[in-house]
Amino acid sequence: MFPAEFINGLRDSAGAARAERIVAALSAEPEVSVRVNPLKMTCAALRSHFGTMAGDPVPWASEEAFYLRARPSFTRDPLFHAGGYYVQEASSMYVGALFDRAVAALGRASGLRVLDLCAAPGGKTTQLLSHLDGMSLLVANEVVPARATVLADNVARWGCPNVAVTSSGPSAFPPLHGFFDVAVVDAPCSGEGMFRKDARAVAEWSPDTVRLCAARQRRILADVWPAVAPGGFLIYSTCTFNRLEDEDNVAWICSNLGGSCLEMRHFWPGEDRGEGFFAALIRKDGDYAAGVPAAPASLAILEKGSLVKVFPPAWSRELARLEKSCKVIASGIAVATRKGRDLVPGADLALAVPGIRTVVADLLPGLSYEPVAVSREDALRFLSKESLLLPDAPRGYVLLTFEGLGLGFVKNLGSRTNSLLPPSRRIRMQA
Ligand code: SAM
Repeated sequence: MFPAEFINGLRDSAGAARAERIVAALSAEPEVSVRVNPLKMTCAALRSHFGTMAGDPVPWASEEAFYLRARPSFTRDPLFHAGGYYVQEASSMYVGALFDRAVAALGRASGLRVLDLCAAPGGKTTQLLSHLDGMSLLVANEVVPARATVLADNVARWGCPNVAVTSSGPSAFPPLHGFFDVAVVDAPCSGEGMFRKDARAVAEWSPDTVRLCAARQRRILADVWPAVAPGGFLIYSTCTFNRLEDEDNVAWICSNLGGSCLEMRHFWPGEDRGEGFFAALIRKDGDYAAGVPAAPASLAILEKGSLVKVFPPAWSRELARLEKSCKVIASGIAVATRKGRDLVPGADLALAVPGIRTVVADLLPGLSYEPVAVSREDALRFLSKESLLLPDAPRGYVLLTFEGLGLGFVKNLGSRTNSLLPPSRRIRMQA
């Protein structure tokens, strides 16, 4: 069923006995796991949302994630659309643990500049946002434009203002010399960790693909390296098992780019509950000089054309520097659009983490809306862009909430509602 060269490579990386166990595990059902958005709800509340479906905690992310006993329709769960949680492959959540280790070694948890270079659809990005403090800045980059749009949507659902989404190739980053304290490169790879989930990954695999991927990963790593501060950290990860893309590339980084590997770990299907993953924590040579002092996590209004956003002013110089090198497609939270003298609330304001809406209402009096809790059925109607009947709610713009989280805005006309949900976020009811 699997190519012979793949099995040979696996024996080389994992040893013969383990390779046999991994191959057997690759025929089993994939695991399903979810990670909470701790800025919006607790892990205990997410467990009660899933009820009897909630299973064991993910051992290396036990504070924030757990397995599910079955795969529900996430598309039909309004809490997912409200950014209460993310569906993420369990072994790849180890990036969060490595990130915490990097932060501890840097000796400062605040005012960090962090890059997620290959970020779509946003699994690591949303996890990094959960692990970062509000006074740090995350730059989430994705080179493929259509994937960058999906990334921006997932970032918006997470609801944090201290983030910029960019869509540039890795070659845009060398001019940002020493800019980032930590960079994550979750590299495009030959995808052996996708074999259980996706038959196409098996069909597309070949020894040549592995060699091409390994060479591409080195080009990406060489491009991002100058942007990492001396003494800063690189987290390199793949969802593949072979030595060429994993250990050999880590050795290449250390000897050719100049760093030392503090930790390197494989997650094997059949041994660790997940699809398989490889991650390494590498410290760049040089003395670390803590850059920007932590500034208060305040927010300021930024207007671009008719778009009104909030962004931490402490990072506005960095944002301007970023805009010189990269294509910034989103930054902060888009809270409203100006239409003549009126402000129309932005869909992302509904998704903002608690506290942001109060700050925004202080900065822009008028941008304050009555929350109206809706049932699952009405939430799904809203997400399908159907009209609702809210006779008891105030007329005008209304913030819909589901299980306590902001979901979106409608304009309540009494006999019907007009949805402010962006068309790209509309779901199909039969999904
Ligand atoms: N980090 C993501 C997550 O956790 O959701 C998954 C990233 S996926 C493994 C690798 C990403 O790299 C893809 O989104 C892909 O479009 C992007 N990519 C493809 N070719 C690339 C290149 N030459 N340079 C940088 N990124 C690339």
